[in-house]
Amino acid sequence: MSHQRIEHFIKSLLQNKDDGPCIEWPFSRFKNGYGSMYFNKKTKTASSVVCELVYGKAPTAFHECAHSCHNKPCVRPSHLRWATHLENAKDQQTSIKDSRFKLTLNQAAEIRCSSLSQKELASKYNISIVQVSYILNNKVWK
Ligand SMILES: [Zn+2]
Repeated sequence: MSHQRIEHFIKSLLQNKDDGPCIEWPFSRFKNGYGSMYFNKKTKTASSVVCELVYGKAPTAFHECAHSCHNKPCVRPSHLRWATHLENAKDQQTSIKDSRFKLTLNQAAEIRCSSLSQKELASKYNISIVQVSYILNNKVWK
């Protein structure tokens, strides 16, 4: 892979301030799915390099680059932001665990599309009506 091509790609990326669909890193990737690039004599995650170039350095050492789209290879500036590990982990939570109930995001999507009443949904998924209405209102539930 040529260094110039990467530089060119990043330059055009930095000019792209609009929001839109994900732009996936077209070069090498880490095994975990994140784009990888050589920057300042270190192999780094492409998204965090782009985040740094667009938004400046991470505010603290506890911040990492978070994707609003949850698409690991994505490097679109508008999808990236600095977040603490905690915020990021919360963000990436794909299943909701509670002592009383556990719902996956798929189930939450099913609930949103369902024509059943809130009461019927609550008994079907074994959750409370309050939780059903939270999901229907698209709120973050804990
Ligand atoms: Zn994205």
